[in-house]
Amino acid sequence: MNKLLPTSTAGSLPKPSWLAQPETLWSPWKLDSDILVEGKQDALRLALDDQLQAGIDIVSDGEQTRQHFVTTFIEHLSGVDFEKREIVKIRNRYDASVPSVIGEVVRKKPVFVDDARFLRQQTTAPIKWALPGPMTMIDTLYDGHYKSREKLAWEFARILNQEAKDLEAAGVDIIQFDEPAFNVFFDEVNDWGIAALERAIEGLKCETAVHICYGYGIKANTDWKKTLGNEWRQYEEIFPKLQQSNIDIVSLECQNSRVPMDLIELIRGKKVMVGAIDVATNAIETPEEVADTLRKALQFVDADKLYPCTNCGMAPLSRRVARGKLNALGAGAEIVRRELLAK
Ligand SMILES: [Zn+2]
Repeated sequence: MNKLLPTSTAGSLPKPSWLAQPETLWSPWKLDSDILVEGKQDALRLALDDQLQAGIDIVSDGEQTRQHFVTTFIEHLSGVDFEKREIVKIRNRYDASVPSVIGEVVRKKPVFVDDARFLRQQTTAPIKWALPGPMTMIDTLYDGHYKSREKLAWEFARILNQEAKDLEAAGVDIIQFDEPAFNVFFDEVNDWGIAALERAIEGLKCETAVHICYGYGIKANTDWKKTLGNEWRQYEEIFPKLQQSNIDIVSLECQNSRVPMDLIELIRGKKVMVGAIDVATNAIETPEEVADTLRKALQFVDADKLYPCTNCGMAPLSRRVARGKLNALGAGAEIVRRELLAK
């Protein structure tokens, strides 16, 4: 990006109420077959338009064509049985009924490539596409086949690499892997989590990002955050190794969270997507508040490597609130951009 402080979002945006029930995760589709395909594409265009109108520079599909950031990808793989469900603890935090791995996991055909190609046709702006990371994928499944978290992660890394290469060929500029699990399983992250992520980006020429956050603003997450104390130092455990990795961009939660901003120093040299929008509240930030967060981040990341962003996806918010937050992000970044250019 040539532009200073290019803005983007972590990924998801709310869906229109005619497509799926608003403010709900895993909300079922309200349309069917061909009409559903058309509806998803219309929603994608609206999500793109909201971003462009708000002055967002690196745009996404707003995840309008998927029900959930992990499940939808896994649904397209063979080797996973969605009827055979088991209760597991997700991210050591909450019980959920999840599908089972029953055989070798294989991507029989591309998952999001048609959607990415459609987004590419709609805009000349740089586009970012989010995929789940290998560790977050295994954490959302019961594994009755490989019986090893690490082995399954390497299998998913191989599959993600195939998908990422197809997305790159479809014209995606940045491929992002969502790894909220990196904030929980520090030993595994350092042992094989980051290595598996590097396997997923092997051979790519486009830029790559990893998004590590404290999750959507749902109750299980906000309750967990209450147990983390005054200072959230989770990033400290994994940043040194991440700094050494081949990943180009690290996307982080910063606004309103208790993450000490100086931890960003540990990934000096990486591009940083600084979360300047809190997705766990309906209060819409003012542009000045966004600018303030970005100014603080500038102490620890060089201006040409700072990418203003949201803390996480905004799927569970209302469209009105999400639009307000997008506008605040665009306007807040512009304030700091002008300050930097005036220097
Ligand atoms: Zn997130």
